[in-house]
Amino acid sequence: MSVATLDERVYEELQALEAIFAPDLTINREDGIPKTIKMNIVPYTGDNIDEQYVRLTLEIKLCPDYPEKSPQVTMKNPRGLDDRIISRIHRDIKGKLNANIGHLIVYELIEMVRECLTQSNLPQGQCVICLHGFKNGDIFTKTQCFHYFHNYCLGKHLISGKKYYEEELDKLPSWQRVEAKPYQQTCPVCRSTVQFKVDDLKTAPPPLESLDAQPFQLTDEIKEMQERMQALMAHQISRGGVIGVGDLEPPPLIITDPAEVEEPKSSSSGAQNVATPETSSGARDGANSASAATASVTRPPYCGPYRGFNRRGKPGRRGRGGAR
Ligand SMILES: [Zn+2]
Ligand SMILES: [Zn+2]
Repeated sequence: MSVATLDERVYEELQALEAIFAPDLTINREDGIPKTIKMNIVPYTGDNIDEQYVRLTLEIKLCPDYPEKSPQVTMKNPRGLDDRIISRIHRDIKGKLNANIGHLIVYELIEMVRECLTQSNLPQGQCVICLHGFKNGDIFTKTQCFHYFHNYCLGKHLISGKKYYEEELDKLPSWQRVEAKPYQQTCPVCRSTVQFKVDDLKTAPPPLESLDAQPFQLTDEIKEMQERMQALMAHQISRGGVIGVGDLEPPPLIITDPAEVEEPKSSSSGAQNVATPETSSGARDGANSASAATASVTRPPYCGPYRGFNRRGKPGRRGRGGAR
């Protein structure tokens, strides 16, 4: 077969593909000979493009012997897909190509990949508020800044954000209160301004993964990690790299001691973890004296993972536990 010509059936296939998929499909030609097909594939969501969370571009290089020889297929610019799904699609493409040598295959390939994307049309990764993933059946939201949260978590986040704002406002002298900026909802990831109806978000069920999550257990693995982190913390402190420790201000994080933790409380018990005066002041005392020696200071009781991460030294309010 001459290099300059393609099977007549291929021209017909390409014509049909252009008719069906333009403008998502483009064909690059050299001297009038089709060389590469590029197709942007998104999942089937009807007309609702707001619900397309994944996508990729399929690049199909036609060889002169196509369809007697399989075209070269590569995936480009995958979005919202984790490696596991990408390699599954890759395997499926290979299988499809091997099983269809001698057949026009581009349309079927595109449809197969689209079907995979439709099945995987869930944002991958975690909701940064609860640290659980997104499962089929979860109710979640994509913000305008393309960040994803369970509605349930976002609702809680916005409620506590507003509460925090009001508490801070209360502390201001009245003349400053008048000038203060009004409360504004922000994205927990990038702080872009968002607008949600909290009452609607509040009605969403909790993340599915959280329902069958095991209660927190202090495993040997975690203990070992805590020891490593403690050594790292001591190293950071010795080099002056920990802001807040030793200052008069509340610390940015609370130092906990794995040795004191024999009976951890469940990390997922309460949705509202309000700091008590004792734990607040305990946290302060603990961290202030921590500059002397991290291992021998009085520390607040351990309240579960991540609860202490809070700029104001109050456990839980903005940490992982508070969002459950
Ligand atoms: Zn969540
Ligand atoms: Zn964002």
